Amino acid sequence: MKVSTILIVVFIFLASFTGNHLPSIAPPAEDPTPYLRTIVIDPGHGGRDHGSKGDLSKEKDIALSVAFKLGATIQANHPNIKLVYTRHYDEFITLKKRAEIANENNGDLFISIHCNAVRDHPEIKGIETYVLGIDGEISNLAKRENEVIYLEDEFESSYGVDPNTVQGRIKFGMYQNAFLDQSITLAGHIQRQVADYTGRKVRHVKQDKFVVLRLSNMPSVLVEMGFVSNKEEEEYLLSLEGQDQMAMSLYLAFRDYKNELEGFPAGY
Ligand SMILES: [Zn+2]
Repeated sequence: MKVSTILIVVFIFLASFTGNHLPSIAPPAEDPTPYLRTIVIDPGHGGRDHGSKGDLSKEKDIALSVAFKLGATIQANHPNIKLVYTRHYDEFITLKKRAEIANENNGDLFISIHCNAVRDHPEIKGIETYVLGIDGEISNLAKRENEVIYLEDEFESSYGVDPNTVQGRIKFGMYQNAFLDQSITLAGHIQRQVADYTGRKVRHVKQDKFVVLRLSNMPSVLVEMGFVSNKEEEEYLLSLEGQDQMAMSLYLAFRDYKNELEGFPAGY
């Protein structure tokens, strides 16, 4: 052992006897709080931003209704979990504000709820779940979901860049998502539970450049619960039964994710 090392050890030893001013270090108590403490539920769109429109429906209304049902189911089964909604009414909330609400509340998970639509293809249907993508082109869907920023004043000063431009895509590509693995895990559970619980068509887990996912500093997914441009799917999403089933399958996916994270078997 070098002399300098010995001196350091002796100093630390002596310092330990002089230290009324040093805080005592208690043995770590068992953490009584679960890993997932705060869940942020983000009902897409609202106010002057209607989102996708079907013949009978507006995306913003279906999203809010399913969001509340999901929240109520989480609360009923896990009363210690804190729930945060990014909106409670038919109100306009910017994407940046939604992420700020999530971050300020130290959310452990962010679930953004939406409905899809595609022009001129009424036959297309199925649920899709998205996680943040950092490479490649931006899709028309992500462009549309991001489009709300154009309803804001001075959106470039808010977001630093227009994400739908080439320059914006490059900037988006520079962001790393530390939470991507967990986000993909939850997205997989959502796809599986919707298929199992509702028996309905599921599409794929996909990655794309959604502003609201990029700004949220936590694992995050964006669920497109179906296409309001498809007549049957729109009727399902508008029905009480459809909204209850969708909320329950999202809850079961959340529970699987929570169990996996906290070391319990699926379905516990
Ligand atoms: Zn949407």
